[in-house]
Amino acid sequence: MITQSVSLDHFQSSWSDEPGYEQLLVNRIHHSGELIELPVARIRGAQPGPFLTVMSGMHAGEYSGILAAQKLISTVDPMELSGTLIVIPVISTRAFMERNMQLSPIDQKEVHFIRPGNSNGTYSDLLIDTLFEVVKNSDYLIDSHAGEMAQALMPWVPIPIKGSKNLIENSLSLARGFDVKYIEPRSDEASIPPFCLALLEEGISNIWVECGKNGVPTPKNIATHLEGYIAAMQTLDMIDGEPARPPQEVLKGRRYQINANMSGVWHPAVNEGEIVESGQYLGRMTDYFGNTLEEFHAPQRSLVLYYWSSPAINVNRRPFGYDWHSGLVSLLDLES
Ligand SMILES: [Zn+2]
Repeated sequence: MITQSVSLDHFQSSWSDEPGYEQLLVNRIHHSGELIELPVARIRGAQPGPFLTVMSGMHAGEYSGILAAQKLISTVDPMELSGTLIVIPVISTRAFMERNMQLSPIDQKEVHFIRPGNSNGTYSDLLIDTLFEVVKNSDYLIDSHAGEMAQALMPWVPIPIKGSKNLIENSLSLARGFDVKYIEPRSDEASIPPFCLALLEEGISNIWVECGKNGVPTPKNIATHLEGYIAAMQTLDMIDGEPARPPQEVLKGRRYQINANMSGVWHPAVNEGEIVESGQYLGRMTDYFGNTLEEFHAPQRSLVLYYWSSPAINVNRRPFGYDWHSGLVSLLDLES
C-alpha cells in the first residue's frame, strides 16, 4: 500500500468520503528544520457512529501498545464498522527510531506533560500540537502506554476525572473492558497529564492504558491492549458483540514517587504490583563499588505501580525539572 504524505494543513481534506481504509503520514516542519512525521490510519465505517482514536508510542520504548495498534488496524473491517476509527501506532516517531526512552531525543521533553497549542515552541511542543490537531474531532480516545526498558510496571488503567458526569462516565466505560487488575480514576488534577486534561476540555472522553514492562512486547500484553480496544468499540456500538467485562478493582489514592538523592547504582527490593507496608525496605543506592549510599523505606502502606529496574540512576539529569532519571519507585498511597 502506498502511504501518502500530507502536511497538517491538508490533512483533514485529504480523507475520502467513502467507507474504507486509508493511511497517511502527517508532516509538519519545526522552525529548527526538524521534521515531524505522524502515521495516521483511518477506518471509515459503512454506518454512522462515534469517532474513536486509538494511539500509542507517545513514549517510544513502550512497545506493546504499538504492536496492538497495528493489529487493530488489520482487525477492523470498514463494512462492519459504525463510525470512524483513527489509529496512530507511533506518536513519537523520532524517539522510536532512535530507541530513545521516555524523553524526546530532540529537546528532552516529556511529551505527556505538554499541553497542545504552542506551535511556536520546541519540537515536542509542535509534535503535541500536531497530535492534538489530528485527534481533536474524536468523541473518545484511548492512549496506550507500557513500561519503558528501564521500568518494571504493573498493568493498570488510569482514568483522568474532570468535567461533566457524562464525560467521566464515558471515560470509565472505555476502561472497563481491559483485562487488568486495577483501574484508577484520578481526579487530583496535578497528577493528570496535561494532554489528558486538554482532551477532556475539548469534550473527548479518554483513558491511558499502562500494560507491558521493560520494553518487552509480550503476546499477553499486546492482547490486553487489543482486546481492550475491541471491548471499547463494542461498548460504543461501533462493532457487534458483547463487550468483555473482566474483574477489576478500583484504586484510589495519591500517587507519589521515591527519588534518589545521589547518583549511583540502584538495587530495588520490591516488585511491581506488590503492596508494601509502612516502613518496608524498598531498596538501596550504592556507589560504583557497591558501598551503600542510602536505603529507602515505604513512608506508608502503598501499592508499587512500577519501579525503575535499571540500576543506573542519575539525579543530575533533570531536563525541564522532570525527575524520571532519579526515580526509584512509583507508588500509590493506600492510606490516603
Ligand atoms: Zn508512557
